[in-house]
Amino acid sequence: MCPYCGAFLPYWPRGAPAALCVHCRRPLVIVPASTTLDRFRIFSVFHLAKIAFLPVVGGLIVAFATARLSPDAFAYGVSLALLAWGSLDVWDGTSGLESGLDRVRRNVRTDRAAKRSSISKTVFGSASIALGAAGLLLTG
Ligand SMILES: [Zn+2]
Repeated sequence: MCPYCGAFLPYWPRGAPAALCVHCRRPLVIVPASTTLDRFRIFSVFHLAKIAFLPVVGGLIVAFATARLSPDAFAYGVSLALLAWGSLDVWDGTSGLESGLDRVRRNVRTDRAAKRSSISKTVFGSASIALGAAGLLLTG
């Protein structure tokens, strides 16, 4: 089962740590679920990355609020975060355009709305990248 679109995965490339779902084109990673070799769990890369993001952004804000970070360093961190987040969104959006399948929260859609939300992800992702890049130029 693909954790992104819920489609059945016919096979997994032998020995590969990551692969693209044949249905939604999203990147997936395989993780051993236990010490026995035949049990694995499959995760969506976007899902993992966005979970990993929360403590990073939270930590930035806390460090800034407690004056451990200068405004310049904070702006630099936020710019990097925008760049990374934007890249994920553009990747998600372009994969959605390619496969015609998109997911917003728990809803997987394959209709025109999927195309629209893929386009908006790509556009907003590009905007985040541009903003992040501008921030890096200004602070770096
Ligand atoms: Zn999928």
